[in-house]
Amino acid sequence: MNIILLGAPGSGKGTMAQKLTVELQIPQISTGDIFRKNLKEETPLGLKIKDILNGGGLVPDEITIEIVKNRLAEADCANGYILDGFPRSIVQAEALDAFQNIDCAINLEVDNQTIVSRLSGRRFCPNCNGTFHVTQLQNAAICPVCGNALIVRKDDSEETVLERLRVYETTTKPLIDYYRKQGKLVSVDGIGGVEVVYRRILDILHK
Ligand code: AMP
Repeated sequence: MNIILLGAPGSGKGTMAQKLTVELQIPQISTGDIFRKNLKEETPLGLKIKDILNGGGLVPDEITIEIVKNRLAEADCANGYILDGFPRSIVQAEALDAFQNIDCAINLEVDNQTIVSRLSGRRFCPNCNGTFHVTQLQNAAICPVCGNALIVRKDDSEETVLERLRVYETTTKPLIDYYRKQGKLVSVDGIGGVEVVYRRILDILHK
């Protein structure tokens, strides 16, 4: 199954994709993770996109599309994949349609107030890529999975969060209509505990 997870930053796409990848045994392709890895390793791509990522903007479509196209051509995607954070613009969605058949686009619906509170309390593990909320953590400084020091992502600062939400509204949100028109949109209430939201997604996928 070729699945897209749609939703604003902080809507839970990454968390749901991490659970789905285990359950469905298909890879999670997160463009955000790919870009952050390049940033951390200071690759030529990483250096090029550093300011864009830290400012909350979008990496140019042609760069992003090329990366995803190459990644989806790898053998582990043959039986399906979960796209987390791609597409993020109509241009990206149209490019994807030109080389892949998408089965469904799951849109996680979360209001803006919840998103700001989720992102401002978000902690990230640069070692295992885990994402947590301070309210879930006994120790807000240590990753409960691998013990590495947790960080606040640079793009989770208040100013950048507002920019990311603006970019989402103008450039990414139109994808909801794009997939609705194709009859592939599935909307899921993204408010609630991780297991509750996950169960809603599984129920829909099983149908
Ligand atoms: P995420 O972890 O999905 O929130 O992505 C982190 C950042 O990576 C975004 O704020 C963008 O700067 C960049 N990014 C991720 N996915 C895309 C995409 N599909 N198109 C353009 N930029 C992206």
